[in-house]
Amino acid sequence: MSLQVIPGEFRSLISCSSTQSPNMSNTRSSQRSSSDPANQRAVQEMILERTGREWCLFVDRDGVINRRIVGDYVRTCEDFEWLPNARRALRLLRGWAPHLVVVTNQQGVGKGLMSNDDLVAIHDHVQSVLSTDGVRVDGFQVCQHLEAAKCNCRKPRPELILKWLANNPSSVPDLSIMVGDSRSDIQLARNVAAEVGGCASIRIGGRVDPENMADASFDSLWDFAVAVGKLGEEIEG
Ligand SMILES: [Mg+2]
Ligand SMILES: [Zn+2]
Repeated sequence: MSLQVIPGEFRSLISCSSTQSPNMSNTRSSQRSSSDPANQRAVQEMILERTGREWCLFVDRDGVINRRIVGDYVRTCEDFEWLPNARRALRLLRGWAPHLVVVTNQQGVGKGLMSNDDLVAIHDHVQSVLSTDGVRVDGFQVCQHLEAAKCNCRKPRPELILKWLANNPSSVPDLSIMVGDSRSDIQLARNVAAEVGGCASIRIGGRVDPENMADASFDSLWDFAVAVGKLGEEIEG
C-alpha cells in the first residue's frame, strides 16, 4: 500500500507545526484551505487513483520548496532558504509518492549569472539536507536556457517531465502530479496531459486563477501534504 508511511508518521509530523501559511497574504484562502470541499474531493480522488500504483510527484522548486528571490536567482547554497515546513511536507509526500522529482527553470545559468556547477552544488545540498530527513529525490530536472532561446525544456513546455517519464517507464505517465506556484506550472501539467493522457495539477500560493484552474490549490506545500495525510488516513480507515 503506497500510503503505508502516513498513518503512523502523520500525527508526529503535524503535531508541532502551525497550519498557518506564513508565506502568503492577501489571498482568498477560503478557496484553497485543506478543508475546502472541492480541494478535498480532488485530493481524495488523486489518492484513490494512485493507490498501489507507481507514479511520480513532480515538484517545482522556487516558491514551493524554497523562498523565491524576486528579480534574482538562488545562486548559492546560502541563498537557498527553505520555506516553513517544506522539508516536513516533502517527507510526508515522499511517503505517498513512489517517485519524487524536482522540475525547475533556472534561467540564471543561461544568463551567465551562475554556472552549471553552482546549480549542481545547490541541488546536492538540497538532497543532502533531505537525506537527513530520510527523503530521497529521484531527480532534478532543470532547464537552464534563456527564455529567448525557445528551447523545448523550459516550463511550461513538457519536455523535462516527458524525458523523465521516458527514462522511467515503470512510472505510469498519466498518474503524474505537478505541484507548482506559477501559472506556467499548471500549464505544464496541461501540456504533459496532452501528450500522455493525464497529469494532475496542484497550485501552491498565488491567486486563485479562474482561467487556469489547478485540480486543487493550497497556500503551501505543507497544506497540500496535510490534506494528503488526513485524507489518506481516512481512506485507509
Ligand atoms: Mg516556482
Ligand atoms: Zn531549456
